Amino acid sequence: MNKQANKWTDGVFQLEDLYQILGAARGASQDEIKKAYRRLVRQYHPDTNKDNPEAEEKFKKINAAYSVLSDPEKRARYDQFGTADGGGNNPFEGFGSGGLGDLFGGLFEQVFGGGMGGRRVDPSAPRRGADLEMGIRVTLLEAANGAAHNLEIPRWDDCSTCHGTGAKPGTSPKTCETCGGRGQVESAQRTPFGQFVSVNTCPRCQGRGKVIQERCEECGGRGQVRKTHQVEVKVPAGVETGTRLRVTGEGEGGVNGGPRGDLFLVIEVQRHKDFERKEGDLHSRLVLTYPQAVLGASVEVPTLIDGQEKIDVAPGTAQGRILKVQGKGMPRLRGPRGRGDLYLHVFIDVPTKLTDKQKELVTALAKEMKVPVGTGEEGIFGKFKKLFD
Ligand SMILES: [Zn+2]
Ligand SMILES: [Zn+2]
Repeated sequence: MNKQANKWTDGVFQLEDLYQILGAARGASQDEIKKAYRRLVRQYHPDTNKDNPEAEEKFKKINAAYSVLSDPEKRARYDQFGTADGGGNNPFEGFGSGGLGDLFGGLFEQVFGGGMGGRRVDPSAPRRGADLEMGIRVTLLEAANGAAHNLEIPRWDDCSTCHGTGAKPGTSPKTCETCGGRGQVESAQRTPFGQFVSVNTCPRCQGRGKVIQERCEECGGRGQVRKTHQVEVKVPAGVETGTRLRVTGEGEGGVNGGPRGDLFLVIEVQRHKDFERKEGDLHSRLVLTYPQAVLGASVEVPTLIDGQEKIDVAPGTAQGRILKVQGKGMPRLRGPRGRGDLYLHVFIDVPTKLTDKQKELVTALAKEMKVPVGTGEEGIFGKFKKLFD
């Protein structure tokens, strides 16, 4: 999935857009869409991209996107939704549940169902709403402790004016005369190979089986309205970037009294300035002064969620040493219970400003250790300078 398609907006991102897949503008003409499609098909065709699974994946997406956008009816419905909310991690995997069928909500299931297998769907049967998928950003601290998030989710809800029928209050939808309420029409075609019967979605009622005489003014006859809904979700402790959480019953509204779809949240854990996460473990820096590193010390170190932790640094601890603090890492979401560890990477702090007394003491130490110090006349560089003068 390319980066551009995952634009974050207020902690919530959208899945890949069908127009983006084809590299076409939202208002592109059917001709422009066809051109874009042809260009991409040539570029990603399996024949010219042998043993290239990425190109193959792309090729599938391009075809799936084109199958929707090339059909004015399907395209109009896609546009109505605004974004490609829903459909699972790979919205193009098959056209069954979790695939493009879900992407457009149960309302349009029969468009695909009818087109694909010719199966008959009762247009007035209750249908489950589509699943929604959104990204949610959490801090590392929230990932460690778990957190409640209040999300604003735009989704389709039953219109309260017409209670989902789409008909103006006081009127009721009538059975479609074209299809007799079945939502599908059959047409026979004679070919040299015999007679074929194809089943198509009824063009008059768009598969609903009913035709609205007077549309509800609130929803324009759709039966549903786009509403922003507040959902409080609990992010469990231990989530990682890429963790997918299911919030049951918070997806798109069902049709004909069907249940809601589910809401899937894809977690992105933000980077922390002091702690780096590696699976269940945390890593951070432990800055020691020279005397502490040499003589050893009992120091307090900050942990992510357990406050200050007292640890003993052994005498002679060198720069680059890694100290382990057992059990102070991230909680685990799955697998063995308990928590990971905290690893402290030792850095020796070299002061740039010293008091006269400190300078005197360090100089005395250098003398005792018989190491040359200083950059003036007495220093090693000074001696070299003399040599070359
Ligand atoms: Zn309505
Ligand atoms: Zn009809």
